[in-house]
Amino acid sequence: MTNYYMPTRIVGGENCIVDNASLLKELGKKALIVTGRNSAKANGSFADVEKALEANGQAYALFDQVMANPTIACAFDAAGLAQREACDFVIALGGGSPMDLGKAAAAIAVNPLPADALFSTPFDQALPVAAVPTTAGTGSEATRYAILTNDAVQSKSSLSSPLLFPRLAFLDARYLASLSRNTLVNTAIDALSHAVEGMLGARASAFTDAAAKSGLRAFAECLPALQSGDISDPAVREKLLFAASLDGMVIANTGTIAVHAMGYLLTYFKKVDHGRANGLLLGAYLRLVQRKEQAAGTNRVGDILGALGMKSLDEFDAAIDGLLGEREKCAAAEIEQYAETAIHAAHIANSAIKPDKADLLETLTRSLGG
Ligand code: NAP
Ligand code: ZN
Repeated sequence: MTNYYMPTRIVGGENCIVDNASLLKELGKKALIVTGRNSAKANGSFADVEKALEANGQAYALFDQVMANPTIACAFDAAGLAQREACDFVIALGGGSPMDLGKAAAAIAVNPLPADALFSTPFDQALPVAAVPTTAGTGSEATRYAILTNDAVQSKSSLSSPLLFPRLAFLDARYLASLSRNTLVNTAIDALSHAVEGMLGARASAFTDAAAKSGLRAFAECLPALQSGDISDPAVREKLLFAASLDGMVIANTGTIAVHAMGYLLTYFKKVDHGRANGLLLGAYLRLVQRKEQAAGTNRVGDILGALGMKSLDEFDAAIDGLLGEREKCAAAEIEQYAETAIHAAHIANSAIKPDKADLLETLTRSLGG
């Protein structure tokens, strides 16, 4: 059965925040603006939001302390500020970290959620959120997830609720211009991974496939720019940003699969950036699925390669290796630990072809083995 849901209003284009300031007016009287420590002020997104709020006569409080892979404590800090300042909506600017933190704070601020059971406690309301992505990666502006580092499980966990879809997303590709090549590449690979994992998901549909294939085509078209790190062409920036949102719509409906489950562990234990962690694993995981599909008589891997305009997984590996450079290595004992943890993650049930622990060991060893 197909069940596709995406309630976020997406407004895109140059200067879209200021030009559509009136849309923010509908969200409330006082915003909690959530950002990382530097980039939102440097790339112009914060100034544009300030300008829009000023035009609307809306007040704001600023929480600008979001770290990469944000913690539960940080989400409670932001929610506490929203409560003290009587904020009635959230504007989250930045990469996935501030967007997810803003979404989590929007829920924590208006529900009695315990920090030690945050991910298992249901909630029935959230402040409205406007999201402004400044990386072209996570698609969080179009998903129902807020992902936080969870020390209790030594990995990352998701708050997941239809209430966490941002009400509004503003896609202005000018903000991407200041991305370092590293962040550009890692976040683009995250978006790629969302498209790939969505297509390999048990809940893939005609709707998510259409979005994923469009995202894959965009990734392939932007490969030369990703390789060089030169995204001075506004059309390239916009293509990457729109594709990341499309890929977000995919995973909002399919979830992610084993690649993300294993990737979270590389981030938690080895401090590998989120998108890069997925990229390290993707090629080997696709090879595994391709082998299993031959037995099952399906060819989703072929569909993925077709959308990328690639002939083989060798071509895929060469492209990803060119972007990633030298790979991190893990000891056999670490790989065993990651496979044992990841096989129990909820992501495994999301896959059309479900891997077993030996499959995860194979993927991790091929990707990272010494
Ligand atoms: P990020 O952690 O949000 O940001 C990485 C770095 O990029 C930070 O140093 C940030 O600086 C900088 N940055 C952001 N925008 C910039 C710009 N325009 N120019 C220059 N630097 C910029 O990275 P991310 O990969 O976008 O997000 C990863 C997080 O998203 C992870 O926690 C992951 O689990 C989560 N995620 C969520 C979903 C979802 O559906 N909700 C999906 C996938 C991943 P500042 O700190 O100064 O801002
Ligand atoms: Zn991701």
